[in-house]
Amino acid sequence: MELYKEHQLKIYNSLSKKKEVFTPIVEGNVGMYVCGPTVYSNVHLGNVRTFMSFDLVFRYLKHLGFKVRYVRNITDAGHLENDADEGEDRIAKKARLEQIEPMEVVQRYTVDFHTILQQFNNIPPSIEPTATGHIVEQIEIIKEIIEKGLAYEVNGSVYFDVLKYNETEHYGILSGRNIEDSVHNTRVLDGQSEKKNPQDFALWKKADERHIMRWPSPWSDGFPGWHLECSAMSTKYLGKQFDIHGGGMDLKFPHHECEIAQSKTTNGVYPVNYWMHANMLTLNGQKMAKSTGNNILPDEIFSGDNTILNKPFTAGVVRFFMLQANYRSILDFSSTALEASEKGHAKLMEAISFLPSLIGGNESSFDVQAWKQKCYDAMNDDFNSPILIAQLFDAVKQVNLLKEGRATISTSDLEIFTQTINSFVFDVLGLPNEAANNHSDKLGGVVELLIKLRKEARDNKDWALSDQIRNELVELGIQLKDGKEGTSFTVS
Ligand code: AMP
Ligand code: ZN
Repeated sequence: MELYKEHQLKIYNSLSKKKEVFTPIVEGNVGMYVCGPTVYSNVHLGNVRTFMSFDLVFRYLKHLGFKVRYVRNITDAGHLENDADEGEDRIAKKARLEQIEPMEVVQRYTVDFHTILQQFNNIPPSIEPTATGHIVEQIEIIKEIIEKGLAYEVNGSVYFDVLKYNETEHYGILSGRNIEDSVHNTRVLDGQSEKKNPQDFALWKKADERHIMRWPSPWSDGFPGWHLECSAMSTKYLGKQFDIHGGGMDLKFPHHECEIAQSKTTNGVYPVNYWMHANMLTLNGQKMAKSTGNNILPDEIFSGDNTILNKPFTAGVVRFFMLQANYRSILDFSSTALEASEKGHAKLMEAISFLPSLIGGNESSFDVQAWKQKCYDAMNDDFNSPILIAQLFDAVKQVNLLKEGRATISTSDLEIFTQTINSFVFDVLGLPNEAANNHSDKLGGVVELLIKLRKEARDNKDWALSDQIRNELVELGIQLKDGKEGTSFTVS
C-alpha cells in the first residue's frame, strides 16, 4: 500500500493562511508548479534555498508514493528590470552589456543553474518549460482576456485591467493587499504611462527599436509580460486547476497575485489549491539579492573565497544547514552558523557509517516504531525538516549507545531503524552521501576486498588466482605489498 494512504500530510496554504490536510485533485497524483529562475546571472545561495525547499517537498511527496508532475519554468524573456513594467528586459540588458546574443546569456545561466542545483543534490523537475517556447500560448491567453473585457490595448501594448477585475473578483486574495496598496508602480503616474491605473500590469509590451527579444503578435512586435508565462505553462502542463504552486515569498506580490487574476479570468476557476511560499535567506539581516550585491555564490562557499567565510564548506553541509530551518522561517547566513551545522552533519554521517556494524539481538531497549512515527509526524506537519533532524539526532544518540553496548535492538527493529534513517537522510532530506560518493574511499574498499580474496586464494593454495589478482592490479597501476602486518597497496 502506498505510504500516503497511511499518512495525513498537512500543508500550510498561503492562501488560507492555515495548515490544511493535503488532498490532491486526482488521488495518488500531484501537480506542482514552482516559479523558476530568470537566467541572466549566476544563482546565489538565496535562490538555492528556495529551490531546495521545493526539492524537499518534491522528495517527500515522492517518498509517500505520490506520482508527482513537477513543473519548474525557466524565465528567458519578459522579466523587466523592475516590477513596474518599465525598464529593459534583464536578459536583453545583460546581452547588450556583454555584446552577446540574449540566447547566449540564457544558455550560460541555465547551465549554471542546473550545475549548481545538481551540486546541492536537487532532483530535476519533470518538465522545465521556457517562456520563449510558449509565446503562442501566451498570446492566446491575452486574446481571451481582451475578449472577456479585462485587458486593453494602448499603442501596441496590452494591460490587464486590475480595477475592473476587482469589481467582481478579489485582487489581493493571496497577498492580503487592498487595491489601493496594489500599485505596481512606485512612480506617480505622470501622463506618460500608458496604464489606465497604476495597479494594472502588462500582458504584452511593444518592443522599441532597441529591444532585440521580440515576437509578432496581433498588437505589435513585442514580448509578453513576466507574469503571463507562468499562467500559460502551468495551465498547459498541469491543467486549469492543479494542486500546488510554489515560489519564494517575494513572488507573492505582484507575480502570483497577477497569475491568479490572469488564470481566473481565462479559465473561469481559481488555478491553485495549495499556495506555498518559501522564506528568504538573509545575509547580515538583509535579504540576499543579486541586485544589491548582498549575496554569496555557491562557488565561494566551496572554495571559502569570500571574506564572510572562515573556511570552505561542502554542498552537503550547506544543505544540512538550510534544512535545519523550517522553509517558512527566515534563515540568516553566517560562517559560524555553518560551522555549527558542519559539526552536526559530521555527527549524523558518522552514526550512519556505524549502522552496518550494529548487531541485532532479541529485544530493543527503545521503541523504534514510535521513533519512526515521530519522523513521519514531523514531515507530515508541513514538511518540518528541523523537527525531523531533531528526531534523527535522537537516533544518533541510540546508535552511540548501541555501539557502546548500553542499548539493545532486536534484529527486526535494527532493519527498520537502519532503513528509516537512510531513507529520511538520503531520500527525503536529500543529503548527499558524501562517503559513498568519495571515489578514492570506494577504490580503497574495492582493493581491500581483492586483498581479502587473494588471501583466501593463497590459504586454499590457489596460486594461479592469487597471482592473477596481483598481476591484473599491477596492470591497473595498483601494487600490492606483503608484509608482516598483512598486505598493503600503493597506487601509482
Ligand atoms: P529570480 O531568478 O530572481 O526570479 O529568483 C528565483 C527564485 O529565488 C525565486 O523563487 C525567488 O523568490 C528566490 N529568491 C530570491 N532571493 C532569495 C533569497 N534571498 N532567499 C530565498 N529565496 C530567494
Ligand atoms: Zn512564476
